[in-house]
Amino acid sequence: MKTARFAGGKKVVLEEKSTLVAGEGQVVVAVKSCGLCGSERENYLNGYIHHQGHEVAGVVTQVGPGVTNVRPGDRVVVYLTSFCGDCVYCQQGLTTMCLNYPEKVNLGWAYPGGFAEYLVTDAQNALPLAEELSFEDGVLLLDTLGTPFHGLRLARAEEAGTALVIGCGTVGLGTVLILKALGVKQVYATDLSPLRLAMARELGAVPLKVPETPVLDFVREKTEGGVDLAVEAVGSPATLVQAVKAVRFGGVVLGLGEQPDDFALTIDLEMRLKDLIMIRSWYFPVKEYFENMQLMKGGFFANKDKLVTARFPLEELQTACDLFYEGKTGGKVLINFP
Ligand SMILES: [Zn+2]
Ligand SMILES: [Zn+2]
Repeated sequence: MKTARFAGGKKVVLEEKSTLVAGEGQVVVAVKSCGLCGSERENYLNGYIHHQGHEVAGVVTQVGPGVTNVRPGDRVVVYLTSFCGDCVYCQQGLTTMCLNYPEKVNLGWAYPGGFAEYLVTDAQNALPLAEELSFEDGVLLLDTLGTPFHGLRLARAEEAGTALVIGCGTVGLGTVLILKALGVKQVYATDLSPLRLAMARELGAVPLKVPETPVLDFVREKTEGGVDLAVEAVGSPATLVQAVKAVRFGGVVLGLGEQPDDFALTIDLEMRLKDLIMIRSWYFPVKEYFENMQLMKGGFFANKDKLVTARFPLEELQTACDLFYEGKTGGKVLINFP
């Protein structure tokens, strides 16, 4: 089968690998669509680290012994994190809280990842995709919509009248889309990229170009001393501080951004007095995948198709990566398979 691998130094190499066999409790999935993700920038720059391509939708082609939840021919998405399925949290569908996988991302979750014609994964990570939805929809239900929606549920975003989204990568854009769909009246968005800001505007946000716009002054002036909700979708200390400063007293800060390095946050007097709620979330539980799929079937994510701005076959993964990681396109880039 055809596969692609990040070789480091921004190079993608195509490779031929032997056919996969589903072991006990596993399934083989023919990949139909796989999203490029900002979290894999490190792989693109420095070579394969863990898996590559983790936003996958496809069709089950083979099931191993003991598999009962899916059958060959089933359309599925591949859920990222490993979970036991038995603990008190898994039983409620709260799979990201699984007690038996302290390292929630089991790095061997799906071999060799989604930049391949086929992958093998634990059967319980293959979640059904409704017939009405496309494989591209399936990919969007994962990191692009699933991840921000989990944080926004924790943040009770539907109660916000004003929000600021810092960083309009695909998670930030997904955040804008959901905030507007939830009826949040005023959504501001910042990013360094004019392309991404243009997309945020299309999704209903008021774009604030940085550094030209003094974001904090602007936001405080336009709202009652700050926004109700600030979402940080960059993963840097500077933008997290900006989010804390942008919310009003009693506001909610939601941290979604990811960078490879840990960082510390300095709490100054202004922040200390703010009486704010700070939320840090990651990915989403299986339970919410099903809720989001129902919402998508009902048309809740009306602007979802605007999120995808480029599609390539596997053979052009190099071009796709150059476009995406060099910021030459504003939205989600997908690798689609025939
Ligand atoms: Zn991702
Ligand atoms: Zn569990």
